[in-house]
Amino acid sequence: MTDIKSLTFEELSAALEAEGCESYRASQVFRWLYKDRVKDFSEMTNLSAALRSRLSELFFISKPEVLRAQVSSDGETAKLLYGLADGNAVETVFMKYKHGNTVCISTQAGCRMGCRFCASTKRGLKRNLTVSEMLDQIIFTEERFCDKISNIVLMGTGEPLDNFDNVVRFISMATDEKCLGLSIRGISLSTCGLVERIEQLRRMRLGLTLSVSLHAPNDEIRRRIMPVAAKYKIDDLLREVKAYADFTKRRVAIEYTLIKGVNDSDANARELAGRLRGIMAHVNLIPLNPSKECEWERPSPARINAFSEVLKHERISVTVRRELGTDIDAACGQLRLHYENEEKRGALERSDTLCGYTEQVT
Ligand code: SAH
Repeated sequence: MTDIKSLTFEELSAALEAEGCESYRASQVFRWLYKDRVKDFSEMTNLSAALRSRLSELFFISKPEVLRAQVSSDGETAKLLYGLADGNAVETVFMKYKHGNTVCISTQAGCRMGCRFCASTKRGLKRNLTVSEMLDQIIFTEERFCDKISNIVLMGTGEPLDNFDNVVRFISMATDEKCLGLSIRGISLSTCGLVERIEQLRRMRLGLTLSVSLHAPNDEIRRRIMPVAAKYKIDDLLREVKAYADFTKRRVAIEYTLIKGVNDSDANARELAGRLRGIMAHVNLIPLNPSKECEWERPSPARINAFSEVLKHERISVTVRRELGTDIDAACGQLRLHYENEEKRGALERSDTLCGYTEQVT
């Protein structure tokens, strides 16, 4: 059986035409799936009973289950853990902002990039998410909160450019008027920096907003933090970042997680500034969310501020992310990891590790 929400409009049209259906049937089915959001073919009441039953022989409509839901005490941030058909679980974060509701989605179950401080990668990559599993994180989150989502960030669990084909198909469906109809300007993708994939994305001319997780001012420090740095040099990565920004005429966000004693000195900030000179970039400083799984610590607020001030002094555009919903396991794969640990122990008590999702302050 085929997963119907992983088919583009053109693909579904071709499949239905092969079944001898009229050409307008694909539009009807798409409307039921993405505007009316029905969960079963039997609800598609303007199709004949024979066609509905044929569709249910050919296709299935995916429906993830909410395994956990945590809402922050201010009610502005929520984290959902979706259970997938094969038993994997993925996290989605819902954030209410003044400029619209934003959802942070996962692109893989697990991750194989191995960043030292990141909980998502601790048990490696389970598998890539399908197109429908990415779309469902938006569809079911909208349904749960009865609220329209206008912005998507591909910044949850997984490396989106390591699931390139599905992510590109997902973006084309999310922006298709007949599907979710979101604006490409409202979608941003965060990558640990797979250089040739960023280049491929640029050549596709999608105009997607890009964030790059740099986390270090030089290759030596970057290699301590991120195994991917063994493959790509910062110079090569930033050359591509510049090409991407020049092409889209929009700033690329440089994510920099501040880790005490590792990458947080004034000298590190000056070196970072030097590297970013001449590139249309904006630095997002993310104070480390410490976790049980990693020994590194977050710098003091004074150190974070000093680092930011050096960048400002060097005329680099910078913001420190303010934490939202510090009472939920909102960042970086922690809810999923805790869920898996609970399953292992057979206990369902809440984990005591707290962290916070982050909002950019401008
Ligand atoms: N794979 C993508 C997107 C997922 S992670 C990427 O690397 O960009 C989203 C961002 O959160 C990345 O910048 C990541 O490095 C950062 N991050 C992960 N774990 C973190 C932690 N414990 N504290 C602070 N930032 C973290």
